Parts: sequence; C-alpha cells; structure tokens
Amino acid sequence: MIYDVIIVGSGPAGMTAGIYTSRALLKTVIIEKAVAGGLMTLTDKLDNWPGNPSISGGDLAENMLKQAVDFGCEFRMGDVTKVDKLSDGNFSVELLDEKAPLISKTVIFAAGSTPRKAGIEGEDEFSGRGVSYCAVCDAAFYRNLKVAVLGGGDSALKEALYLTKFASEVTIIHRRKEFRAEKIIQEEVRKHPKIKLVLDSVAEKITGNDFVEKIIVKNVITGEFSEVAADGVFIFLGYIPKVDPVKHIVELTPDGRINADTHMRTNVEGLFAAGDIINKLVNQVATAVGDGATAATAVEHYISTHHK
Ligand SMILES: Cc1cc2nc3c(=O)[nH]c(=O)nc-3n(C[C@H](O)[C@H](O)[C@H](O)COP(=O)(O)OP(=O)(O)OC[C@H]3O[C@@H](n4cnc5c(N)ncnc54)[C@H](O)[C@@H]3O)c2cc1C
Repeated sequence: MIYDVIIVGSGPAGMTAGIYTSRALLKTVIIEKAVAGGLMTLTDKLDNWPGNPSISGGDLAENMLKQAVDFGCEFRMGDVTKVDKLSDGNFSVELLDEKAPLISKTVIFAAGSTPRKAGIEGEDEFSGRGVSYCAVCDAAFYRNLKVAVLGGGDSALKEALYLTKFASEVTIIHRRKEFRAEKIIQEEVRKHPKIKLVLDSVAEKITGNDFVEKIIVKNVITGEFSEVAADGVFIFLGYIPKVDPVKHIVELTPDGRINADTHMRTNVEGLFAAGDIINKLVNQVATAVGDGATAATAVEHYISTHHK
C-alpha cells in the first residue's frame, strides 16, 4: 500500500496538514511518537489563539485530531527513525520496532523542536508554575510582576525586551559579562529602565512554594551566592530541532533547522517541512497551522503534477 502523504508529527503543523490532505481525498497517515497534539498540549490557555482565547492546548489538539480523522486521515503512534527517497521517487519511512517501512508519494516532516533546558534544580518541578520557555505565550500572565530571564543570545534579549511590556521588572541572568546578541539589541537592553542585569552569573536553583518565588544565583568569578526575587523564570537557551530522521538528506541552517521555501518545499523533491522545525521568524501555534495548510496544498499540487 502506498500512501499519498505521510505526516511525521501531530503538532498543530502536522494535524492541519492532515486535515487539508485528507479533506482533499489524499491517502494520509499522521505518525506521532509521544502525545497527539505536540507542544501545544503543554499550554493550559492558548490566549493568543485567534478567535478562542480561552481554549486549552489539549482541547485544541483533540478538536484537530477529530477533524482530521473525520475527513478520513489515519493516525498512528510510532517513532519515525529514518526517511529516505527511493529510486522510483517514492519515500520510505522507517519506524522503530517495525520491520517493513511505510511507503509514500510524499512526506510532510513536522516533528517540531524542543526547548533546551537549563538543567537546574527546580526547573522541572516549577515547569508551568512559573518556569516558561516562551515569552510570546506566557508574558501576559506576568503583568506587573517580576520575572527573570536566563540566557544571553539574541532570542533571550529580544524576549526580555518583550517581557518589559508586561512585567514590572526583568532581571537577565547571564554567565558572561558580554552578550552574544546583536549590538543594537544589547544597547536597548542595557539602557532599558525595567531591565536589571546579573552578569558573570549562573542560576543554580529555582525555588518557591506553589509558584516560583526566587532564583539562587552563583557569581562565576567570586563564587558568591545571591537571590533574585522573581514570580516567573523564562529560559531562553535555544531550541533543538528534531531533524534526526531527515538530516542525512535535507539542507539545514547552521542552527539545525530545515530550510523550506514559501511552499514548504525542502531541497528534496516531494519532501515538505512545516512548523517549528523550519527556519522562520516566530514559532507559534498560529504559524504552525499556516505552515501545515501550505505544505498540504503544495503536496496536492506536487502529486497532481508528478503522479498522474
Ligand atoms: C511551554 C510552551 C508553551 C507554549 N505556549 C504557546 C502559546 O500559548 N501559544 C502559541 O501560539 N504557541 C505556544 N507555544 C509554541 C507552540 O506550542 C509551537 O510553536 C507549536 O506547537 C509548533 O507546532 P509543530 O507542529 O511545529 O511542532 P510540535 O508541536 O512540537 O509537534 C511536533 C510533534 O512531532 C512529534 N515527533 C517528533 N519527532 C517525531 C518522530 N521521529 N516520529 C514521530 N513523531 C515525532 C513530537 O512528539 C510532537 O508531538 C508554546 C511552546 C512551549 C514550549
């Protein structure tokens, strides 16, 4: 049996692609290795989801899955280990613990990425209770409260500036005296009245009761410990794109994301990518949904021109 399209990952990008391709009567399967719905299921309230700001990520995921399945999309749990293009133009998709690969005319790779953790005490314990990896998602919950930012790269400083729109005080904790971010952003950060800098320092521990209350910080030069009071901690140490199954065939950016064009095409004909896995400005549910719809439409076009 040959699928028209195999979709790897059931986050908002993969689910949307599945809704579109199955609605277009393409034989579609979505393969998911962990939780149906992807990263959005971690969010209680998707308050920037257009049209329904009180919906939870879990409910949105459930609705999307039902919609895809109602249109005839197959959904299966499985860990995709390798995607290859065969000499006849089809794709083989290998799954962990499955002897024979699945075969498909096209693949939409929507495996997402995972936030890089700080690996400190209290990080997992307070995840969702003050520890966040996404300012656009959670900044609004910290109106007039104090927050801390861990990280010193471009995205950490940009997110810190974004947080100043809501928080009363933003403390950036960074291991070095110098930032790696663009000079213009550094200047903006250094002169911002709401931003405090704790440099040459690393966060050692996040503590609190029900929610985060403070961070124990160590100065790496003097070895001294101090406390930073904060209602929230935003960790911006980058994301790790989950490209392993395709990294031997697709073109990647220096930070490991997939280069896709505006039709979500990769450098491999018939292999499309969508969502957080691609190189783009903002990683959100709304943009992942758009990428998924675009990839699905491009797949339809590809199949109608290559597989008559
Ligand atoms: C804590 C947190 C809160 C967020 N809150 C918001 C918010 O409020 N609003 C908002 O718009 N955005 C939010 N985001 C961002 C949003 O969740 C992501 O941008 C979005 O989920 C990306 O969708 P995606 O489909 O590209 O990838 P993902 O949602 O990451 O889904 C990818 C899926 O692929 C699966 N997968 C990966 N590898 C394989 C494999 N080899 N085989 C099979 N399956 C595989 C994964 O298990 C996962 O389920 C938040 C992100 C985080 C981390």
